[in-house]
Amino acid sequence: MKKAFYIAGEWREGTVYAPLHAPYSGERIAEIPQADERTVDQAIASAQEAAYAMRRMPAHQRAAILEKISRLFEERLEEAARIIALEAGKPIKTARGEVIRTIQTYKFAAEEAKRIHGETVPLDAAIGGEGRVAYTVREPLGVIGAITPFNFPMNLVAHKVGPALAAGNAVVLKPASQTPLSAFFLAELAEAAGLPPGALNVVTGSGGTVGDKLVADPRIKAITFTGSPAVGIGIRSRAGLKRVTLELGSNSAVIVDRDVNLAAVVPRCVFGAFAYSGQVCISVQRIYVVKEMYQAFLEAFVSETRKLRGGDPLSEETDYSAMISPKETERALAWIEEAKQRGASVACGGEVEGRVLQPTILTGVPADAKVSCQEVFGPVVLVNPVDSVEEAIALVNDSRYGLQAGLYTNNLSLALQAADELHVGGVMINDVPTFRVDHMPYGGVKESGMGREGIRYAIEELTELKLVAIKR
Ligand code: NAP
Repeated sequence: MKKAFYIAGEWREGTVYAPLHAPYSGERIAEIPQADERTVDQAIASAQEAAYAMRRMPAHQRAAILEKISRLFEERLEEAARIIALEAGKPIKTARGEVIRTIQTYKFAAEEAKRIHGETVPLDAAIGGEGRVAYTVREPLGVIGAITPFNFPMNLVAHKVGPALAAGNAVVLKPASQTPLSAFFLAELAEAAGLPPGALNVVTGSGGTVGDKLVADPRIKAITFTGSPAVGIGIRSRAGLKRVTLELGSNSAVIVDRDVNLAAVVPRCVFGAFAYSGQVCISVQRIYVVKEMYQAFLEAFVSETRKLRGGDPLSEETDYSAMISPKETERALAWIEEAKQRGASVACGGEVEGRVLQPTILTGVPADAKVSCQEVFGPVVLVNPVDSVEEAIALVNDSRYGLQAGLYTNNLSLALQAADELHVGGVMINDVPTFRVDHMPYGGVKESGMGREGIRYAIEELTELKLVAIKR
């Protein structure tokens, strides 16, 4: 099926097309237009024109359009989930969960559109400030360049498009090359919801061509990027004075203290490590268990993990499927091999069946092995014993990344100590770092990024604060 760009409210054919293959079956599922600079230029021009209309659109109308998009996702939930399952290889049960979150994300955006406000500033607190009334307003930036990854092709797009439109901006969206169909689906719903032409443009093509143009073009006022640290750091270094929000990777960890209820903890750790085959930015990659609990935890964790079923993402039975590409599977396997050569043991998994890498649990992994210190972004997790929670906190912090971390404990003072000392964007006490709901502030420190998403926080990133001072 031949797809088209969505520019200025029209579906426009490309001149060059690339085939899109399903990660699990390898089957060719669509032909995707590949933008050149001229196409991106047209998309930016159309967004710039629409930005004037969006800026003047009353909040209730922006809210109504976002509310309608949310409703349309609800009506077409199953269709949306099947698109994700097919192009991203995400098990259908998990894909439905993503659509349910997407519905909420647009709903939150609709609600937040109505409460974007400033504050009054008491200028008379300063000598010379008497006799004035002052207040701040939040104004849209104009045209936003949104660049998104493959792993949540509906909901992470929603985290950019939702707040950008809520704040009265226009958007040029460049989805990941592996997951363009989800972005086209959104464009269809946005059009049906009455979004003015040009307020959302979807341009597919290589990250190099489309991404570079978005980052370089002066009409784009902000880049909101979710993806790998290497690409994100490159964008930031080229963006000049543009606003940049970066949601990048991690090697997230969870700590398990001595007094916890394993029956509750273990299933959450299985979910955290292996949901969507670990291709989640806050996937559990490192588990540190205090030594008294280590054996019991490991046995239960391996036994729960063995219950997961691999296979076709469109099957209701499937818990895990193929990684996004054979190349990524090869990389994950090579990293497992490297860990083994450095003394690690495989407690479970480690093999590929068809295109599907099994959920893999490693023990005895040294801290400088790739599966520990880099981002695996695959179904691989390590479980190591520690003497104390304090030692584990130091291990968690010994990382280039800092997105979220989890600690299971019933010791309140240890929990508070961890909350103070963990150098991450979010600390989850009594849950895995994989916990996220869509209105909470979300983002990282260090190489995990800068800026925050979660609708209200993303709106702050995508608006400019203006002061108005009136002399009586
Ligand atoms: P990626 O390879 O960095 O790609 C992300 C996006 O950037 C894609 O649309 C890609 O386009 C584009 N891109 C590639 N080169 C570019 C360039 N030179 N300039 C501008 N854009 C460029 O990441 P991915 O493999 O899709 O996603 C996995 C990564 O995302 C992981 O590191 C994960 O941790 C991170 N992630 C972070 C969060 C978070 O919220 N912190 C959430 C999800 C994922 P092409 O597809 O065409 O190459």
